[in-house]
Amino acid sequence: MTLTDPSRTSPDQSPLGTARAQLATAVELLGYDAGLHAMLATPRREITVAIPLRRDDGTTELFSGYRVQHNISRGPGKGGLRYAPSVDPDEVRALAMWMTWKCAVVELPYGGAKGGVTIDPRRYSRTELERVTRRYTSEIMPMIGPERDIMAPDIGTDEQTMAWVMDTYSVNRGYTIPAVTTGKPLAMGGSLGRSTATSRGVVHATRAALADAGVGLAEVSVAVQGCGKVGSHAARFYAQAGAKVVAVSDQYGGVHDPEGLDVPALMEHLARTGRLAGFPDADPIDNATLLALDVDVLVPAAVEGVLDETTAQTVKARWVVEGANGPTTAEGDRVLRDRGVVVVPDILANAGGVVVSYFEWVQANQAYWWTEQEIEDRLEHRMLTAYAAVADVARAEGLSLRDAALVIGVRRVAEAHQIRGLYP
Ligand code: GLU
Repeated sequence: MTLTDPSRTSPDQSPLGTARAQLATAVELLGYDAGLHAMLATPRREITVAIPLRRDDGTTELFSGYRVQHNISRGPGKGGLRYAPSVDPDEVRALAMWMTWKCAVVELPYGGAKGGVTIDPRRYSRTELERVTRRYTSEIMPMIGPERDIMAPDIGTDEQTMAWVMDTYSVNRGYTIPAVTTGKPLAMGGSLGRSTATSRGVVHATRAALADAGVGLAEVSVAVQGCGKVGSHAARFYAQAGAKVVAVSDQYGGVHDPEGLDVPALMEHLARTGRLAGFPDADPIDNATLLALDVDVLVPAAVEGVLDETTAQTVKARWVVEGANGPTTAEGDRVLRDRGVVVVPDILANAGGVVVSYFEWVQANQAYWWTEQEIEDRLEHRMLTAYAAVADVARAEGLSLRDAALVIGVRRVAEAHQIRGLYP
């Protein structure tokens, strides 16, 4: 299937296949025509760049980098920068499309964008990653900026990466421009509460979904797949809210205790050893078994596509809350729906990160900084408002939360596009 033929839903389980199938469902529900569908399915702008790296040992290597602005009808592009071996143009296109709907669902004045470099950051030194980041930034300079496209961390990148991007951009412009990235270190224009924002949002969304069934967080057991920027803090916040966190995993495997893990002790162990495995007082568990645990809430917070047609059959949880982007394929989603599992979709559940990115950008633009409490309160309000709007549409139209969120997000983007009108 090509970019100009988006009307057929793809049977492929790739991130782009999933993203396009989701869009096709929303377009059908909204009754849009083929022309509008094609516009919504196709990235507005894309750039591919070659990134030569001088390694610390003097040899050189070449990487590919991408930035995709899927849609900018509602405002500048917004979205993360991913460093992973899996990065390819189609993955970046899918992630950029999800950012468009996500920003619209939580009513941020942004479009959607994403960037990536095909690199395994664990195999390169800090100085090498700095050179890759600066060269990538320099190559995509014409496309980014506080009014054009604002970057943030994603898998394989962090606050330091955002500092390098911001510095490279600023030095080339000749003055300091903090609003070109979000998720920066606090010491140079980052926002309080940004590093934990996605996880806090995931827990707010979980609380709201449970409340719809008259259940409280303190009554449920939770399994979290992934222990990076999203999963680690989410596990902590679930435990703080009184939920029983029975399993957590990272890429090397995980740990399981049906009686509930001591999450603070587990996080200390992770900080000390670099992995969850080997944590005393818990059983080892692999990622596939974790997905099939008999828990109330399953939180996939790692990578795309883990809940597919096959693994979705094994899920015993009553709620799946998507901390990752695209963890459920279109087929996996159908299986979960048929089995009565409530899925709180990524574009709603993990939107807390970009919500506080927006707060960081607003603060940087006005050069005035809010307190942590202001940020936490505004984040909670945004998440609960967005959840309520999605749940209302789901109830009124008889849709899943995913389809309701897509309908809201896609409709807001299409309306902005139509009101602006076509030029020329
Ligand atoms: N990478 C995060 C996401 O996928 C954050 C994006 C942002 O803050 O711009 O939502």
